[in-house]
Amino acid sequence: MEIRDWECDVVYDLLPLYMDGKAGEDSRTFVKEHLQKCRSCKEIYEDMQRIQESSSTEELQETISSQKEQKVFAKLRRRFFLALIFYIIVIIALGTVFAWFLFR
Ligand SMILES: [Zn+2]
Repeated sequence: MEIRDWECDVVYDLLPLYMDGKAGEDSRTFVKEHLQKCRSCKEIYEDMQRIQESSSTEELQETISSQKEQKVFAKLRRRFFLALIFYIIVIIALGTVFAWFLFR
């Protein structure tokens, strides 16, 4: 089985179209036949397929949304922390004023 290098280049260029179903009839046949005889291109094709599948699954969307949630949560936590510091300062200030009135 002889595989010419230029075929791999062409297949590599055509793969995205092939996977989107946008490749023409001749291109599709060419890619399909090449994938059957060329292992390295087939591996690339399978990798691309895996990436395409994972990018369209809900799993990935869940990962993204949970990352978003974590960001929002971190923001809320920071805000809560700032509020806490603010209250502590207010309480200390009030305590100081109160103590000043009490013990002068
Ligand atoms: Zn190839």
